[in-house]
Amino acid sequence: MIKVDETDPVGELEPSFPYREVICRRNVDMKEFYDLETEVGRGKFGTVYKCKEKATGLGLAAKFVLTPRKEDRRNVEREVDIMKVLQHPRLIQLYDAFDNGKTMCLVLELITGGELFERVIDDDFVLTEKACAVFMRQICEGVEFVHKQNILHLDMKPENILCLTRTGNRIKIIDFGLARKFDPEKKLQVLFGTPEFVAPEVVNFDKIGFGTDMWSVGVICYVLLSGLSPFMGETDIETMANVTIANYDFDDEAFNEISSEAKDFIQKLLVKDQSARMTAAESLEHTFLRHPVADGALQLSKRKLKRYVIKKRWAKAVNMIVALQRMGAKLDL
Ligand code: ADP
Repeated sequence: MIKVDETDPVGELEPSFPYREVICRRNVDMKEFYDLETEVGRGKFGTVYKCKEKATGLGLAAKFVLTPRKEDRRNVEREVDIMKVLQHPRLIQLYDAFDNGKTMCLVLELITGGELFERVIDDDFVLTEKACAVFMRQICEGVEFVHKQNILHLDMKPENILCLTRTGNRIKIIDFGLARKFDPEKKLQVLFGTPEFVAPEVVNFDKIGFGTDMWSVGVICYVLLSGLSPFMGETDIETMANVTIANYDFDDEAFNEISSEAKDFIQKLLVKDQSARMTAAESLEHTFLRHPVADGALQLSKRKLKRYVIKKRWAKAVNMIVALQRMGAKLDL
């Protein structure tokens, strides 16, 4: 059984490489410097492969993004520019970058522990409120650093929280593909994100800010503790309607075993008015993250979280099949 080691809950490890100043290389084939290995993941924009640097033998991850349009390129360039300033142990680190016109490649630190929720539902893992607090603390530390650099992540969701290793408790935030520089003088609005995790101001196409990420942190915490998604409706439209009125509760029996401190933590994040939400720095000072409660070692049921993760796996597989069918239709296969 794997338990969180309370004397060293996070267990800082040496990073696989020191922080680097990356300059995007144009019209250079990354395969000259790296050997590509197996695929390790796929997202909305990119396909990620394991790779090895030829000169050093260092294992890394290469994220390839197709950039046929100018706009696609600009998006990846923005992701690179943002990642350059995000040098922190809770955030995925950039190692190298290539721009070949129609494709761009980001070489990243390799993370081998898989998605946080997949790890947590593993039969070997003992899920307790304390363990949740250990993960939430690291997420808030990462977000705090991002916000200190005046950057918004804007895609905080469980899929973008990876475990560094299969057995340790360290996590990293990945995917800065939707991240934006925040300028309080300018009105920043966005039209993207995952309905389940986006804040009311995103759904309403209102001005967004640091609180927008903190809302998503609140939703992640709710799901991690209970296996239930607070705003999930039958359809995306229904989900977004629930989000806009910040309609959620702790009525389900899954919350019977959850402390009032943990619920208070969530309640201070899932607030409709973004200026009233806890900031990342404040969340780190909250009792839930500072002093986990005495019975925080109580084992939580993972039945609902398992069901949640399995449903997501299916949805992902179905989306993939639909995308492949569309591609087949386009190619007239
Ligand atoms: P997108 O921007 O297309 O959404 P992501 O950056 O989220 O792509 O990557 C897609 C998937 O690839 C992730 O969900 C994750 O499973 C995997 N992945 C991404 N970066 C790494 C990494 N550095 N190490 C290991 N796996 C990764």
